[in-house]
Amino acid sequence: MRINCAIVYLCGAAHMKRLIGRYTGSRPGALVIVIAALHGNEPAGVLAVKEVFRLLALEPQVNPDFVFSGRLVGLIGNTQAYQIGQRFIEQDLNRMWTPLHLRCMQQTPLAERQAEWRELGELLAAVQEEVLQYKPKALVVLDLHTTSANGGVFCIPTDDKASLRLAKELHAPVVLGMLDGLQGTLLHHVAGNRFEIGGYPYYSVGVAFEAGQHEDPESVSRAIAAVIHTLRAVGCVRAEDVDSRHEWLLRAFSATLPKVTRLRHVHHIRPGDAFGMRPGYVNFQPVRRGEHLADDASGPIFAPEDGYILMPLYQPIGSDGFFIVQELKN
Ligand SMILES: [Zn+2]
Repeated sequence: MRINCAIVYLCGAAHMKRLIGRYTGSRPGALVIVIAALHGNEPAGVLAVKEVFRLLALEPQVNPDFVFSGRLVGLIGNTQAYQIGQRFIEQDLNRMWTPLHLRCMQQTPLAERQAEWRELGELLAAVQEEVLQYKPKALVVLDLHTTSANGGVFCIPTDDKASLRLAKELHAPVVLGMLDGLQGTLLHHVAGNRFEIGGYPYYSVGVAFEAGQHEDPESVSRAIAAVIHTLRAVGCVRAEDVDSRHEWLLRAFSATLPKVTRLRHVHHIRPGDAFGMRPGYVNFQPVRRGEHLADDASGPIFAPEDGYILMPLYQPIGSDGFFIVQELKN
């Protein structure tokens, strides 16, 4: 069946600078919102989402039977930090999705909101506007990131069963329990169904996807694959319309990595810690209990248990030094 799809670029002021694109299928379905560059120094997600919109525009020409059900929207997370290629301006936008921060933001007059306070308000409004416009049965949020260390390709589900199902469809290692070790991430907001429409909470399913190292061109390809796998998993596109190279890209990369792991430890950094990771660690590198991993103002920091290291911090700003996960077998 032929389809009648269109890419529409919104013209609303605050929405406009945030919107990467929007694609609506001829059939109803899920609303998938992909957030890219919630951290401003992670442009791979933005490039990936642009490429997916380009592919979607071309698809009906090369595949006349292509059908899209639902709507895909791409949004830039932190527009001000993205402009200058910095993780954030004043504070980490991916740690501000707490009820307290949201209340603070809402109590601050629009004109007085600066830096991430403005971003928080505008991004929240952008997602709610998209839901109001499309009124989907399901809201799916894919949050794209990259890391400062090499080898970090994995996805983070929430505790929701639908989120775990979606994460497993992305064909990358799944890390459970990450939300227990962090506070105020966008994924916490999604997991708590806290997008309110007309005063009521809206059911939402979310997964965060780490596509690899910030500057690695392959991170863009892996983020493209993650978006396409998400569209397939939630029924926006049919399996037969998905190019198998996207499938193999992530499967091949993940072949030697543990499939499902659980967070065991987070090393949080406090102001004045002067944290420094020892050189050479990559994501999913096995570490032994007692291994000297990093140093700070109080001295050496040792691994508290065996496991795999995740997101060792090799950039000047960040509030978490490293994570340790352990494989779950069965
Ligand atoms: Zn990030």
